[in-house]
Amino acid sequence: MTSRKIVVLGGGFGGVATARTARSLLPSEHPVTLIDRNRVTRLCGMNPMLVVGERDVRKTGRSLGQLANRGIKFVESDITSIDTASRRVNTTAGAFEYDFLVVALGASYDWGAVPGSDLAYSFYDLETARRLRRRLSRFKRGRILISVAAPPYKCPPAPFETAMMIHWFLRKQGIRRDSEIVVTIPEPAPMAVAGPDAAARLADDLERRGIELRTGISVTAVSAGSMEAEYSDGSSIAADVIATVPVHRVPQVVVDARLTGGKPWTPVNACTLETSMQNVFAIGDVNVIPLGEGRAIPKAGVFAAGQGEHVARTIASRILETQPPASYDGSGECYLAYSATQSALVGGEFLASDGPQVELRPPTASGMRSKERFEKDWRRFRI
Ligand SMILES: Cc1cc2nc3c(=O)[nH]c(=O)nc-3n(C[C@H](O)[C@H](O)[C@H](O)COP(=O)(O)OP(=O)(O)OC[C@H]3O[C@@H](n4cnc5c(N)ncnc54)[C@H](O)[C@@H]3O)c2cc1C
Repeated sequence: MTSRKIVVLGGGFGGVATARTARSLLPSEHPVTLIDRNRVTRLCGMNPMLVVGERDVRKTGRSLGQLANRGIKFVESDITSIDTASRRVNTTAGAFEYDFLVVALGASYDWGAVPGSDLAYSFYDLETARRLRRRLSRFKRGRILISVAAPPYKCPPAPFETAMMIHWFLRKQGIRRDSEIVVTIPEPAPMAVAGPDAAARLADDLERRGIELRTGISVTAVSAGSMEAEYSDGSSIAADVIATVPVHRVPQVVVDARLTGGKPWTPVNACTLETSMQNVFAIGDVNVIPLGEGRAIPKAGVFAAGQGEHVARTIASRILETQPPASYDGSGECYLAYSATQSALVGGEFLASDGPQVELRPPTASGMRSKERFEKDWRRFRI
C-alpha cells in the first residue's frame, strides 16, 4: 500500500486525540507527525481551581515529547504557513508535506481588543492564572470582578466556575462577608449555549451564593490603574481585582491559508469536520459548527478531542478503504467545580437530530472525583 502522510497542526486536546487515534488505527507505514510550538502544553481546565490554590502548577502540563513512545513524530516548531495548493506546511524547522492535514491550532487571545486588560488579571492561560492566584492569596476585602469581552470564548462554564471557586475560597478564609463577587457577560444568560434550563439553574446557583451576575454587557476597557472596567453600554464598575476573559480569534496562519473563507472561524462540514479543501480537516477551537439561533458547538477540550478521534477514523477509513464513521454527533461533557470537593457536569449531545440535548447536573463529590480522574488521564495521554 502507498504510504500516506498525516500531519497534525497543534498539540492541544484536538491534535493529540487525532494523532493517538490515527496511530492506533493505521499501520506504521503511514507516518503521523504532530507539530506544535510548545513542547509542554497545559490543561487550562485546572485554572479555576488553581487560582484559589487547589491545583499544583507542576501538574498542569504534559510533554508532547512523550508521543514518540506511541509512534508519533513530534516536531517542536512554529507553523509559519499552510500551503494547501502544494499540500505543504512551512515551519521554523522546515517544510512538511502531507496527504491528510488536520488543523487543530486552537484560538489565540487578542488582549489588545480590550485596552488595559493585559495589565489586569485573568485565568485564561497559566501565567495570568498564576498572577491571579498570587493576588487572591493576599486578598482581604473588596470587590472581585470577572468580565467577559465577547463570545465565543473557551469553556463557557469557566467564568462561573472561577466565581464559584473564589466564593468557596473567600468563605474558607472567613472573609466572604467583607467581599463581593460580580460576573459580567455579553450573553443574555449564563452558559446560554447549554440551553435555557441549564442557564436558569446556573443563574440560581450563583444567586444563592451571593455572586452578582450582570448580563448583556461586554467589557471594552480596563482603566484607572486596573481598578475600573468599562462596558459596551457606557457603564463602568470599580473593583479591587478585575479579571477578564479575552477576545478569542482564529490564528492568523489559518486566515492566511484561506481556510476561514473570510469568516471569523473555520467553517467545516458538520458531519466530517472537513474544510472546503479535500482531506484538510479543522477541529476544536479553530472551527465553527453552528447549532442554529446563533449558537455553535462550545469551544472546549472535550469537543476538540471528540472531533480529533472522529477525524482520525475518517482518515483511516479513506486510507484503508473501509466504511467511514457515522456523522459527528457533537457530544461531550465539561466539569464545573463549585468547591474543592464538589463538581457539576454539563453537556450532552449538541447535534442530536431533534436539537441539542444538554443538561447541567448538580455538583457532587463523585463529580469531583471524576474531574480528578479526567485530569490524571489527560496527563497520561489517555485523552
Ligand atoms: C480557564 C479555562 C478552563 C477550561 N476548562 C475546560 C474544561 O473543564 N473542559 C474542557 O473540555 N475544556 C476546557 N477549556 C477549554 C479547552 O482548554 C480548549 O477548548 C481546548 O484546549 C481546545 O483544544 P484545541 O486542540 O482546539 O486547541 P488548543 O488546546 O488550544 O491547542 C492548540 C495548539 O496549537 C498550538 N499552536 C497554535 N498556533 C501555532 C503555530 N503557529 N505554530 C505552532 N503551534 C501553534 C498551540 O501551542 C497549542 O498547543 C478551558 C479553557 C480555559 C481557558
